[in-house]
Amino acid sequence: MAERLQNYINGIWCDSNATETLDVINPATNEILAQVPLSPGSEVDAAANAAAEAFKSWRRVPPNDRVQYLFKLKGLMEENLDELARTITLECGKTFGEARAEMQRAIENVEVACGVPMLMQGDVLEDIARGIDEMMIRQPVGVCAAIAPFNFPGMIPFWFLPYAIACGNTYVIKPSEKVPLTLQKVMQLIEKTGLPAGVVNLVNGAKEAVDAILDHPAIRAISFVGSSPVAKYVYSRGAANGKRMQCQGGAKNPIIILPDADLDMTTRITLDSAFGCAGQRCLAASLMVTVGKAKEPFTEAIAEGAKSRVVGFGLDEGVQMGPVINHASRERIESLVAQGVEEGAKVLIDGRSPQVSGYEQGSFVRPTLLQNVRPDSLIAQTEIFGPVLGMLNVETIEEAIALVNSGHWGNMACLFTSSGAAARKFRYEAEAGNIGINIGVAAPMAFFPFSGWKDSFFGDLHGQGRHAVEFFTQTKVVIERWFQDWSRQF
Ligand code: NAD
Repeated sequence: MAERLQNYINGIWCDSNATETLDVINPATNEILAQVPLSPGSEVDAAANAAAEAFKSWRRVPPNDRVQYLFKLKGLMEENLDELARTITLECGKTFGEARAEMQRAIENVEVACGVPMLMQGDVLEDIARGIDEMMIRQPVGVCAAIAPFNFPGMIPFWFLPYAIACGNTYVIKPSEKVPLTLQKVMQLIEKTGLPAGVVNLVNGAKEAVDAILDHPAIRAISFVGSSPVAKYVYSRGAANGKRMQCQGGAKNPIIILPDADLDMTTRITLDSAFGCAGQRCLAASLMVTVGKAKEPFTEAIAEGAKSRVVGFGLDEGVQMGPVINHASRERIESLVAQGVEEGAKVLIDGRSPQVSGYEQGSFVRPTLLQNVRPDSLIAQTEIFGPVLGMLNVETIEEAIALVNSGHWGNMACLFTSSGAAARKFRYEAEAGNIGINIGVAAPMAFFPFSGWKDSFFGDLHGQGRHAVEFFTQTKVVIERWFQDWSRQF
């Protein structure tokens, strides 16, 4: 019988009263790893109330003392990096190398949040009028919460959590029900830091738990990452309840290749962007737009690379790409490829229904290339979230930029070129929150905001860096005047 996961509320691991559970599976083998309870709203209520109680004293802990827990956590995460990465590979499918890199970015966010004693400082101006001073101070918001997606179970919670608690807030986190094991392990490390009970709470679950978070009166700010329809729903419901919201959604990321781009480097980077993490990255290249004469050499080189990608179980040596998250996802991806063909695209490399020796039960899709994708077709605008790269050709950079800007997504756009002028034009005109110039996965470092525009982001302040500090603090402005008759002695 697989282990039934627990929630972590008020410093205690506790069984959920959930009547429903889901199997957590290894997508490479379809083997059951654990059972995750779909916690009822009452358990979110318990977590939020514990966080509200803990907030009373946690906000009074000096910031330089608060970050000491994060320094400890960084050390523990480094010591346990391989174990965390192994867990990510087991439940999420990505390769061990990809999983390690994911945890590395999580650790970077802890490091940046350790700068909160500097980052959280406010502003003061003396003598805004004679003898009157004005100051802006940043105070924590209260209880905050995060709702996470399946594709980066170790990293995405860290775009928010370390900043939230370093700023003096307390926290409730709900991992994706598809990949809850990684956060269980992370929470065990958080527990080892000696963080006071109730400061960070974990509730497993799905829609009912999310709705309870969105409606809970004690929860003041919510970070969400997931698909755009759910992001929009979460944003609207949370905002209607008066909460501060930041909701990152899905993507369809174009990369533009000019004829003067470096063939080898561009090919390597494009392959990694399109097929790394089996295309299940919100910053995966999913449309490759060649300009003019770039079409032939780059199509040929990408096709060669796609064919030779080593697909298998992410813990096996030499594997470059793991499975997609589950059978349902594989079926969805394959039906979108079929839809692309119906819309007139040509399958240049067909990765559907592959046989991966020794892993016949796994949810594998091999790298797939769709040529002659029409810009107005559904397949050009739909997020596939799998190892499928659509390809099309235009004649000018202006056409390429118009194509980038015509879509409703705005997570990432990349340009490959050796022309500085073309790069500047692209950076200036492309409508996306993360831009890559000769970069295929333009994932901002922890000290920059993880941007996103249009339907890829609902809100204002993003995760990571200074944006996170602003999101997790509220400003208070104080105007002060003191009267003193200096002729009177104390
Ligand atoms: P998802 O939207 O299915 O789920 C995300 C979270 O929302 C989960 O915790 C889930 O339990 C919850 N949820 C799902 N349906 C819900 C509903 N109807 N009501 C309330 N809550 C619900 O996303 P996913 O499949 O886990 O993740 C993949 C998606 O996330 C992709 O679209 C990807 O582009 C996106 N993503 C975006 C970013 C970004 O930075 N913009 C980063 C990673 C992933």
